[in-house]
Parts: sequence; structure tokens; C-alpha cells
Amino acid sequence: MYDVIIIGAGPTGSSAAKKLTGDGFRVLLVEKLKLPRNKSCSGILIKKSMDLVRAYFNEDIPPSVMCSPTDNRGMIFTNDDGQEFIYEQEGLNIWRSSFDHWLSKNTGAEIRDSTIALSCEEKNDSVTVTLKGESEYSEQAKIVIVCEGVSRSIKRKLTHAPKDNIITYQTFNIGSITLDPHYFYAYLQPNLSEYDAWFNVKDNFLVFGVAVRDASKIEHYYAEFIAYMKITAQCLYCPASEQRKMDDASYFARLPNRLRERQSAICGRSRRFSQSNGRGHIRRIGKRLCGSRSNSIGQLRYAINLSVL
Ligand SMILES: Cc1cc2nc3c(=O)[nH]c(=O)nc-3n(C[C@H](O)[C@H](O)[C@H](O)COP(=O)(O)OP(=O)(O)OC[C@H]3O[C@@H](n4cnc5c(N)ncnc54)[C@H](O)[C@@H]3O)c2cc1C
Repeated sequence: MYDVIIIGAGPTGSSAAKKLTGDGFRVLLVEKLKLPRNKSCSGILIKKSMDLVRAYFNEDIPPSVMCSPTDNRGMIFTNDDGQEFIYEQEGLNIWRSSFDHWLSKNTGAEIRDSTIALSCEEKNDSVTVTLKGESEYSEQAKIVIVCEGVSRSIKRKLTHAPKDNIITYQTFNIGSITLDPHYFYAYLQPNLSEYDAWFNVKDNFLVFGVAVRDASKIEHYYAEFIAYMKITAQCLYCPASEQRKMDDASYFARLPNRLRERQSAICGRSRRFSQSNGRGHIRRIGKRLCGSRSNSIGQLRYAINLSVL
């Protein structure tokens, strides 16, 4: 029997694991994908995120997970009317696959990747987690912490929450553009996406993305966004081979979820918390800065409330 089983080896799961192993608990960290895994993300860590990493992991983020330009200087929002607003802040440009892998390797927990948690069943003083790697089996723990990010399949089983997704589509391209690569750009015009469209630079890649609610509209919005970037930022580019479409959960939060489902705590993105630089935050800052169309966003910072233990 483990003290704690943590489901999901993203930043939330790894931070929880690190804290718990440091406090002497026996922890199993379960990740459904093979590590290092990809994650739909712009990979900008703001200062608050860097401070959290330092606080939990007691180490600086290593150069091996960074990409160029390494220093991010903030975000530039364009509102519905095409007006630009700059939000300056210190940040770091990282590859999420390497960053998340580095975090998980530093937790001191037993890690089982390529292993999906199918369900949790609470019984008396323990929780039985059904896992599937090469075969299906179960493990027990006193406490389970669900850090499954946007997929939220375990959470939906525990809380009977409905599925509520947006789709993010992101491409990595070679080319040239007149924008300053030290900034992250978010475009809130309704003709460019159903949520936001974005641009940033990672190593030699020009990264373009759009978020939609209706998957059939990806091509339309993406084409609109590229056409807009060609005109406004003199973007010349060759589409790279790597194109990514990923499901992402919506930030259109309805009711806050209870933190504690008896012995199962739901943390991080799966609880509609997000790291401060995530899509929800972008919309909120964008709205505050430039009064663009608004959507209600749940809570922002990804946070691990270990008080449940
Ligand atoms: C397009 C986009 C851009 C973003 N850009 C930024 C940014 O620039 N900066 C920033 O700070 N944030 C950004 N975010 C937000 C950020 O990605 C999330 O807030 C963050 O990943 C949340 O961390 P997490 O650990 O809660 O979830 P995740 O990082 O999603 O980790 C959850 C993990 O759980 C695993 N998992 C899920 N279900 C199971 C299961 N049943 N069994 C086992 N494992 C499971 C998943 O495979 C995953 O590895 C962005 C998000 C999107 C969609």
C-alpha cells in the first residue's frame, strides 16, 4: 500500500509528489503517456511559476529544458478592435516535454509512465486505483491525488461532471516575421479564433495556434490567422511537418469543484486551476488590459492544496 498515488505527471502532479516524498511519504506517480510526453502549451513560465518551481524543487530550472530566446519579456495582446496592449513581465521560454520530464525525475517518487489510471474506488481507509499498463491491475493508497490536467476523466467519474472541451491547434514552422521573439502574442479578435489565437517563437520555430470550440472550424480560423499574420507582421513561412491538434478543456467554468472528494483530492488543471500563463489567464489579462470580449474563467494559479492530507 502506498501512502499516496498521484495521477498525472504534469507540473501539478510532480510538485505534489516532490513535497510528499520530502515529507517522508511513499508516493507512486502514474502517467498515462510515455515520458517525456508532449503537451499543448506555449511553454512560457512567468516569474510566479519559476518561484513555485524553486520553492518545491529547491533548484533552478536547468538550461537543458529551455529554448531560445530563453528570456520571455511578457505578452502582447491585440483586442477585438486590433489595438495592441503590452503586458511586461519576466519569463522563461521552455519546452514542456523536457521541463515536465525534469520535474517528474526530481520528485523522488516511484514513477510509472505508459500507465493509465482507469478509476478510483474509495473503501474504508484506502483508495483502490485501477491501472492499465501492459495489463490491467490495481494499487492501493491511503490518499489519491488526481492531477490529470484537462482530460479530467477520473474527475468526471468522481463528480459526474460533463465533458466540456475546446480544441487547441498549434503548428511549428520555419520562416521570418517582424515581431519581437521575446514576447508571447495573443489575438482576441473573434474572426481569428473562437477563444484566442497566439504566436511565439521557440528555438527556430514560429509557433502559431488557434483555439476553437468546434473542431470543424480549425482550418477556417487557422487560415484566417495566418492570412492576418502575413499582412500585419510580414510573416513569411514554410509550414513545418510537425502540426499538432490537441483537445483542451474549456475554461468556461460553471461551478467551482469541491477540493476534496473524500480520500481523493482533485488538483491543478483538472480542478480548473491553471498556471498563470495559461489560456485562461491570457483571456483574463487580455480583458483587463484591453476590454476585449470576456469569458468567465475559473481560478487561475495552478495550486496544490496539500491540506487535505
Ligand atoms: C495552448 C496552451 C498554451 C498554454 N501555454 C501556457 C504557457 O505558456 N505557460 C503556462 O504556464 N501554462 C500554459 N498553459 C497551461 C498549462 O499547460 C497548464 O496549466 C498546465 O499544464 C497544468 O498542469 P497540470 O499538471 O495540472 O496538468 P498537465 O500538465 O496537463 O498534466 C496532466 C498529466 O496527467 C496525465 N493524465 C491524464 N489522465 C490520466 C490518467 N487517467 N492516468 C494517468 N495519467 C493521466 C496527462 O497525460 C498529463 O501528463 C497552456 C495551455 C494550453 C492549452
